[in-house]
Amino acid sequence: MNTPSLPGLEPVPQPVEWAPTRAAGLARLSQFAPQAGRAYAATRNYDYGPGNRSNISALSPWIRHRLVTEQEVLTAALARHSPAACEKFVQEVFWRGYFKGWLEQRPSVWTAYLNGLDNARYTIGADYQDAIAGRTGIDCFDAWTHELRETGYLHNHARMWFASIWIFTLRLPWQLGAEFFLHHLLDGDPASNTLSWRWVAGLHTKGKTYLARPDNIARYTNGRFDPTGLATVAEPLTEPEDHPLRPIPPSFAPPEGPCMLLLNAEDLCGAALMPPDPDGVFGLLTPDGSVLANDFVAAGLEKALADWGQTPITSNNWTQPLVEAAARSGIRRIVTAYTPIGPARSQLDAAEPTLMSQGIELVRVRRAYDSLVWPHAKRGFFGLKKQIPNLLRNLGLSD
Ligand SMILES: Cc1cc2nc3c(=O)[nH]c(=O)nc-3n(C[C@H](O)[C@H](O)[C@H](O)COP(=O)(O)OP(=O)(O)OC[C@H]3O[C@@H](n4cnc5c(N)ncnc54)[C@H](O)[C@@H]3O)c2cc1C
Repeated sequence: MNTPSLPGLEPVPQPVEWAPTRAAGLARLSQFAPQAGRAYAATRNYDYGPGNRSNISALSPWIRHRLVTEQEVLTAALARHSPAACEKFVQEVFWRGYFKGWLEQRPSVWTAYLNGLDNARYTIGADYQDAIAGRTGIDCFDAWTHELRETGYLHNHARMWFASIWIFTLRLPWQLGAEFFLHHLLDGDPASNTLSWRWVAGLHTKGKTYLARPDNIARYTNGRFDPTGLATVAEPLTEPEDHPLRPIPPSFAPPEGPCMLLLNAEDLCGAALMPPDPDGVFGLLTPDGSVLANDFVAAGLEKALADWGQTPITSNNWTQPLVEAAARSGIRRIVTAYTPIGPARSQLDAAEPTLMSQGIELVRVRRAYDSLVWPHAKRGFFGLKKQIPNLLRNLGLSD
């Protein structure tokens, strides 16, 4: 076994329990922060398995639903390490903002994914059923399938290998794999997930694919797997359409005067952005994940609403609950955290014309972090990476 170790930083078995509370996320951040420097850079590519997540933060479920923010994670890392020592970790955190901003500026990629998914469903057969049941006979792939279903999490490297084997060895439509991930991951995110699958397939950085290699898998899983029969070439996928760049929609300041707050799973701490004394609060959920993923989000939202004695409303169509909540309160303004491209955004966009026709205004408030980072996500990650020193200064995290 070649577990890489730095003096005094030997990985200690460290399974993670993803309790859906801000306190649990902050506790994990404190536990991980000492490792966010050179130890992270040296060992982050190793997937030691679900019983040992000591070399990565495993913060993604909390960050995804904004129980812990990127700003807080960056602050904790930079408080313990010099910018040079935690450069790699800081970059990884900015990958999230990159993907969010990129999809926000090319929303047709999300629509094309949904259309492709509808078409791909017609191709579903025994090979797909074997893949999602972990019955392909490829040792690592089957193990990751079970791990994903049972824990709602996979290591980044495992996600890359999994997506590559799905696309190039099993030759299944990438959209079905992306949907499988989005359904089961506790951190399932329309931007990070869709764009990472497209990246592996050669659609994000056009023509550049990711090939999963047996020796690389054996090495970075510490010999836990020895896969055979993997594809040896990864021809890039192509698509007919171009995805034009669109301006980022405007964000609005929290308004003065009577309003209701709408909390949603895109930002479970979103109330912090809002007027402190709203005239009512409610929360909406779309139940589109696995039981594990839905439970994580529902419990997080329940907790966020508990201070006001409310419980989440679960619905596949938000228009009616939004109109009813506004009618009950007699308030003409609903304020919510900005919802980036994805199912929650589609629900709000679909409801807005009906709300407007009834004289109800929907105000979407974006976090300053997103407004700062997203405009730099127009093309490749390199463009944003160059801006990291400036962004850290603007975020008040460096001189
Ligand atoms: C096919 C595929 C699908 C993915 N789907 C998702 C998804 O649905 N949701 C999601 O949050 N991430 C996704 N990722 C990115 C990445 O795998 C996870 O963010 C990371 O594994 C989470 O583990 P961690 O918190 O220990 O990350 P760490 O390595 O500790 O990084 C810290 C934080 O930075 C962010 N981050 C790190 N790497 C990436 C990355 N490559 N892209 C975007 N953000 C990153 C995450 O918020 C993460 O919590 C996907 C990657 C691939 C290859």
